[in-house]
Amino acid sequence: MSWFDKLVVMTLPLAPKPLVKRFARRYVAGETLEEMLGAVRRLNREGMMATIDVLGEFISHKDEALQAAQQYKTILEAVARERLDANISVKLSQMGLLLDKDLCYDIMSDLVATAARLRNFVRIDMEDSPCTSDTIAIYLRLRKQYDNVGIVLQAYLRRTLGDARDIMRAGAGHFRLCKGIYIEPRQIAFRDHKLINKNYALVLEEMFKNEAYVGIATHNEELVWDAMRLIDQYRLKRDEYEFQMLLGVDEELRSIILDGGHRLRVYVPFGKDWYAYSLRRLKENPSIARHIIKAFFRGLSSRR
Ligand SMILES: Cc1cc2nc3c(=O)[nH]c(=O)nc-3n(C[C@H](O)[C@H](O)[C@H](O)COP(=O)(O)OP(=O)(O)OC[C@H]3O[C@@H](n4cnc5c(N)ncnc54)[C@H](O)[C@@H]3O)c2cc1C
Repeated sequence: MSWFDKLVVMTLPLAPKPLVKRFARRYVAGETLEEMLGAVRRLNREGMMATIDVLGEFISHKDEALQAAQQYKTILEAVARERLDANISVKLSQMGLLLDKDLCYDIMSDLVATAARLRNFVRIDMEDSPCTSDTIAIYLRLRKQYDNVGIVLQAYLRRTLGDARDIMRAGAGHFRLCKGIYIEPRQIAFRDHKLINKNYALVLEEMFKNEAYVGIATHNEELVWDAMRLIDQYRLKRDEYEFQMLLGVDEELRSIILDGGHRLRVYVPFGKDWYAYSLRRLKENPSIARHIIKAFFRGLSSRR
């Protein structure tokens, strides 16, 4: 990232919320259930699957976790009622992981059971490194009882190849593989982009070799190429893997993947807590962030 982009990223939180919202619209499917369902219907019509995320992460009371779980159940009911092709993505911190691990397990167990009853699937998102071991432990506990749950692993973590092997050895190989979005110390995470890509391809091959199901979550064309090479090499059938991308990111690559005959799932975040998520997305895309900062400063100077 250039020094100018770094400056843009640092300035972004100072921009007023309504301005950020205007630019964030492409990444977030609104604040309400109805707006989100509209986005999923559109994606389905265009031949894509979806995974739905209710925005919101760390919570401080049990009631907030129960409320978030209830929201996800409402979504599962709506998806079943409308026969949409969409599952859900859940962050364990939102389900009380940092308050009480047993509470978190109980809430997740109930949610995964609801999804099973409705013939749906729950993907557990991966958060920052203090959550990694506990997230994997809860996932493996859930897998003892349910098949309709999967986990995310992050290629930037040095431990990930080992984690993938342990999880597959336990017979629980249903993954989303992504690079990882949090800022982690070099001690535990690769920092070099080339190394992260190499590790991504290495872990992906290990997963395919062991017949795991993988959601290949990336917008990086080099990694998409690597994945397609491995899909060909391991002679995978269309329903033995899927590509995954975030809403609003590189729609051109999205159609290239679809035109190649692959399945693709779009991550659809929505909800009242859109601001923190949007800032993360915009920080990854300084070209859009630059427009916000420019509009912000233009606004300030016209008021003078
Ligand atoms: C479906 C899905 C689910 C994810 N779930 C998790 C998770 O559970 N835990 C986690 O830590 N991370 C998650 N991530 C984020 C992921 O870890 C990366 O931070 C993110 O995808 C960027 O890496 P990349 O592989 O796309 O490649 P990059 O090399 O970072 O990006 C490739 C290209 O895409 C463009 N691009 C990337 N992101 C954006 C953006 N936001 N807006 C515009 N352009 C962009 C870049 O400009 C670049 O040109 C998820 C990503 C996806 C696609």
